Amino acid sequence: MSDSKGQEAVRGADTKRYKVIVVGGGPSGSLTALWLLRLRPELAGCVLILEARGFPREKVCGGGVSGRVTASLEKLGIPIEDLPKVTVSKFSVHFEREICSPSFGNEKCFVTRRSDFDRLLLELAAERGAEVRTGTSAKGAYRERQGIVVLDGQGNTHRADVLVGADGVNGASRHWFGAPHRGRKSLLLQVDFPRDPDAAAPRDCLMMDFSAPKYGIPGYAWFFPSIGDRGEPVVNAGISGGPFHRGSYIRLKEAFFAILRHHPEIEAMVPGNLRFKPYPEREYTPLQRVSLERVLFVGEQVGVDPFTGEGLAVCADSAEAAAREIAEALDTGDFSFRGYARRLLAAPFFPLYFVGKTYCLQNNHLQPSFFFNMATMEKSAGVPNVVDYYASVFSGNMDGRVFYSAGFWGMALRDMAATFPGWWREVGGLASLLRRRCGATSPAPGEE
Ligand SMILES: Cc1cc2nc3c(=O)[nH]c(=O)nc-3n(C[C@H](O)[C@H](O)[C@H](O)COP(=O)(O)OP(=O)(O)OC[C@H]3O[C@@H](n4cnc5c(N)ncnc54)[C@H](O)[C@@H]3O)c2cc1C
Repeated sequence: MSDSKGQEAVRGADTKRYKVIVVGGGPSGSLTALWLLRLRPELAGCVLILEARGFPREKVCGGGVSGRVTASLEKLGIPIEDLPKVTVSKFSVHFEREICSPSFGNEKCFVTRRSDFDRLLLELAAERGAEVRTGTSAKGAYRERQGIVVLDGQGNTHRADVLVGADGVNGASRHWFGAPHRGRKSLLLQVDFPRDPDAAAPRDCLMMDFSAPKYGIPGYAWFFPSIGDRGEPVVNAGISGGPFHRGSYIRLKEAFFAILRHHPEIEAMVPGNLRFKPYPEREYTPLQRVSLERVLFVGEQVGVDPFTGEGLAVCADSAEAAAREIAEALDTGDFSFRGYARRLLAAPFFPLYFVGKTYCLQNNHLQPSFFFNMATMEKSAGVPNVVDYYASVFSGNMDGRVFYSAGFWGMALRDMAATFPGWWREVGGLASLLRRRCGATSPAPGEE
């Protein structure tokens, strides 16, 4: 990796033409390069990654890596065994005193520090043939007849056949091409504090508390077992879902402390003064543009799962999908990338989005939602519920397409009926209300 603030800064106008320029050296950018170099090893030396910051850099994050992401990293031969991490074996979904805690049944999920994770990926991309320039910000880009031109902060001009926008939630690449994001942008607060390694929670568990809607926040608080800069045990905690505007910070903090009261074992570890780090997040929506001619967006330029805020799965899947599209385009000369959106809909992250979004849509911010009741309902041993299915897919034990199966929806309907026996009467009542409303505004037959 080279740092443009040193030797590269004196190069002046750069005339080398690349096949692909990736703007952003976070996980989505590095993984796109790694997938490209795996699919087309001959692209070594023809992929340029421009990264604005010096690495390793901090990224505000929970650091939770799901089994689905691990599977993708394994396909690329990424040595995650060398990464400082805490392996987690279950997640627990809380609503006040209610808990549902399915086990993953494997060792694939872990929590890590993003500075280490992102550095590992970027260094590997460089080792495997990508040209990486850290400390080099892309200032703008435009399409020319035969490709893309990118201007960097050192006054260099880079040319390529394809541009990949991997510049994260605050990145500008979408705006350079007039394709603004359509997903909701929300504010998150994250904090680390010392963890008692002997305490039962959150020892090997991703704890997610969905009581936040009770305090007016359409998100959740999390408590993950993690490690600090010196390898010491810490709790990585935070709260998601605040509207992205002034005043959110205070409301999020208040909601976090209110939720903390339901977790006395964790509250006991919290020091007197917590310094929260605010950072935004953008939700994925299938209704937005993910590509234009010669341009593809990956990672948080595509979005995160709006239910759990999981972004690394979107990074992994969009990186693979983008690399496959680019490899095909380089073979055929067709750079329209029309198939990319379809590839994303078929990617492993999408079924979890599909189920999680259902929860978000009817989450009324005031009470445990219908979906939550249904999902956490006690069952006889061996009978799964929605959260069990969710955990199996999240941890990589089950293919996400199970959510499209008749078996899953049969179970969901059965649970709806059991959780809320009158639900079909409510639907019927709503229909007759709508009929009455329509009747009141439109003339009855024969009245004209
Ligand atoms: C508080 C919080 C907690 C989260 N927890 C989790 C979690 O536990 N698990 C999970 O899966 N996801 C989590 N996420 C989401 C996850 O962090 C993101 O989805 C992920 O970082 C997106 O990766 P990325 O590579 O797209 O973007 P980033 O990681 O943001 O990387 C983008 C890179 O682009 C660079 N860049 C920007 N502009 C330019 C430019 N003009 N030129 C050159 N470089 C540029 C930036 O410096 C940056 O390094 C969390 C997010 C937040 C905010």
